[in-house]
Amino acid sequence: LIRFDKVTKRFGDVTVLDQLDFSVATGKHVTLIGPSGSGKTTILRLLMTLLTPDEGTITVDGDYLNHQERDGKLVKAGDKHVREVRKKIGMVFQQFNLFPNMKVLRNVTEAPVHVLGMSKDEAEQRGRELIELVGLTEQLDKYPSQLSGGQQQRVAIARALAMRPQVLLLDEVTSALDPELVAGVLDVLRDIAHTTDITMLVVTHEMSFARDISDSVLMFDQGKIVESGSPDKMFSDPEHERTREFLSTVL
Ligand code: ATP
Repeated sequence: LIRFDKVTKRFGDVTVLDQLDFSVATGKHVTLIGPSGSGKTTILRLLMTLLTPDEGTITVDGDYLNHQERDGKLVKAGDKHVREVRKKIGMVFQQFNLFPNMKVLRNVTEAPVHVLGMSKDEAEQRGRELIELVGLTEQLDKYPSQLSGGQQQRVAIARALAMRPQVLLLDEVTSALDPELVAGVLDVLRDIAHTTDITMLVVTHEMSFARDISDSVLMFDQGKIVESGSPDKMFSDPEHERTREFLSTVL
């Protein structure tokens, strides 16, 4: 479903991703681990088209994300093409970024109505189902400021799912939360991982969560994949010294 083909991303003189190749099959859950600065967030930001690659191509569901084919050649894609492909992807960030002036339900229905052109009734019905899925039915009529950080993050998850993305990107979604709120958010995500067929690409330092939900784990260092494998293999018996070193700091 997602494919990076020789993707390079630089910031000035610094090469953050170096000729990166990897793919995520439909319905799979892949977790990216690795030290700070190894390029994990950059991968998610490229998929959200918040950044564009300097070299290489990214495809989502068979469509180029930043390119279009014209007369047999790959050219930079127009904005409309990029927006269409990006609709297949939803993301939840470390900071929840909810609309502060909208109640919970409207936070979830706003984009389906205005971006997907869904009817208000349909968006509200689906919004209520998603809010129930994240356990917030009681909070439907509250503003974000009246919710805990964990509840706000669960609204952000419902909001991302409301766009019916094929892929859900999760970037350190619990790292801004007070410790006692982390488990509730991870439980919701575990539930989504185990009960839906959505494809997930996850950056997290929560290794037991990664172990529970991942089909595979990719270990990054300096913009390259140093090792990949099943969570059991990666967490119990990693091959590379660099992976062992990293895991000893987080496990
Ligand atoms: P973390 O776990 O700390 O979030 P990460 O693996 O997600 O780390 P990235 O956020 O992808 O790492 O960053 C990779 C490198 O790119 C870092 O060295 C970072 O300083 C640099 N970087 C990221 N964004 C920019 C930017 N907009 N301009 C310049 N450098 C950047």
